[in-house]
Amino acid sequence: MGKPIRYQLPQFTTVEDERRHLKERLAAGFRLFARFGFSEGVAGHITARDPELTDHFWVNPFAVPFAHIRTSDLLLVSHTGEVVVGDYAVNDAAFAIHSQVHAARPDVKAAAHAHSVHGKAFSALGRLLDPITQDACAFHGDHALFDDYTGVVLDLEEGKRIAHALGENKAAILRNHGLLTVGHSVDEAVWWFITMERSCQAQLLAQAAGPVVLIDPDAATLTAGQVGGHFIGWLAFQSLYEQIVADEPDLLD
Ligand SMILES: [Zn+2]
Repeated sequence: MGKPIRYQLPQFTTVEDERRHLKERLAAGFRLFARFGFSEGVAGHITARDPELTDHFWVNPFAVPFAHIRTSDLLLVSHTGEVVVGDYAVNDAAFAIHSQVHAARPDVKAAAHAHSVHGKAFSALGRLLDPITQDACAFHGDHALFDDYTGVVLDLEEGKRIAHALGENKAAILRNHGLLTVGHSVDEAVWWFITMERSCQAQLLAQAAGPVVLIDPDAATLTAGQVGGHFIGWLAFQSLYEQIVADEPDLLD
């Protein structure tokens, strides 16, 4: 490539800078989820681990439209589910799932879940994504199936079982429910969610049209290394962030 790429991973000198940054990314993530049509009623949550209180996470206030969320609306929730910062309640399912994922995966800085249409349609098949496109290879060997459904996730034991099914992967398909993605940054978790939803859509479309040709396993593994890494996931989010902030600058309020 020769010339440097436009975006570089951020560096922080203070914890306040880092916190401000992740809250801006989180608010932008909700605006993008709204724009991509991922909101449905009160379902869906994205969380970001606080850089200082590392067993606390930032999350959307319950029942506030994704399309309106501003940085100042976000809640800080403790590991016991107490809202430490913010004026609204936290979604019980958000706490049950995300607290257990954050606890089980110290490397995970952010997690995203929503009831997006193609993700939930695909989840009803009770199977993993196939490597049928270059983009889907980001999930090749790096996503899991939570092969159970027992009702709305409200208790911590169910959240623990989901975290266990997720394992060391970047994503899980929650059967009869939808998608869950994680990342080493908010940027990455949100990007994996967007592209996983679209990979579900692509596979549903392709399989509805006829027999599908799979990418061979060696090429799928090679491609996974090329398109599925933490930096690439982070990078893919940057132009979306730039676009949504330019269109909806109040998200930074
Ligand atoms: Zn859900």
